[in-house]
Amino acid sequence: MLAFEHAKKHKSEQVDCMQVRVLGCSGGICRGVATTSFLVDTDILIDAGTGVCDLTLEEMRSIRHIFVTHSHLDHIAAIPLLADTLFDSLVGRPVIVHAQQLTLDVLHQHIFNGHVWPDFTVLPHKTSAVLKMKAMHTGATVEIDGRMIEMITVNHAVPGVGYRIESNGRSFAFSGDTTSNENLWAALNKHDNLDLLFIESAFANKDLELAGAAYHYCPQLLARDLCKLKHRPKVCISHLKPGEEDAIMSECREALPGWELTQLKSGDVFKF
Ligand SMILES: [Zn+2]
Ligand SMILES: [Zn+2]
Repeated sequence: MLAFEHAKKHKSEQVDCMQVRVLGCSGGICRGVATTSFLVDTDILIDAGTGVCDLTLEEMRSIRHIFVTHSHLDHIAAIPLLADTLFDSLVGRPVIVHAQQLTLDVLHQHIFNGHVWPDFTVLPHKTSAVLKMKAMHTGATVEIDGRMIEMITVNHAVPGVGYRIESNGRSFAFSGDTTSNENLWAALNKHDNLDLLFIESAFANKDLELAGAAYHYCPQLLARDLCKLKHRPKVCISHLKPGEEDAIMSECREALPGWELTQLKSGDVFKF
């Protein structure tokens, strides 16, 4: 039996269970709609899209780690601004950005390059910089205060990963951006449980070809892959194209009968 408490805008509490708060989960932006970022407990971000703007300054100061799925702007947009905003409080106490080396290289070359934004990995000094980049290998697991965070390769237009996060025997996974692949499902099947899955379906079925070309799922492609999963988690659909949410969700429900499906929304909080 699932033991989620699913509620809107719960205030973050010190709890011994894991909490995941959805700051943003859309494929685009407009009022009340923001791009991917999930806050695990109070200190870990999975991706740092525009959803980070939902945090207060105080909440932002609690962030110690950011796990990045890939280099696309909708997943990293808030990292440079967060470093600048929190600069004083991060000197000598950096936020650690975890990602594949290829992703970190892109951040260095194209964002923190002195042209688009200052290189906060050497500011104010190399030894007291406010951002620290830490390369992670796919398949590896990092432990942060009892939370085990595993990086899993997926299939996107740029090197991309998802993450599986486990704490006290409860687990959730996030696909990142991906289209059809084998590795995500095989990696999740290696474990005994999966309680909650955030999976993308960026496009509706009418855009099947575009979904393949852009390395995203549509409901039809997702349904074909989800049957590879041996677990029966609660499934939350993310990264929906703004304006097409209803079409995508009704196609998902039609293609995936018997699955507990919901549309992931900013403000959702899961405790388990
Ligand atoms: Zn992407
Ligand atoms: Zn994306």
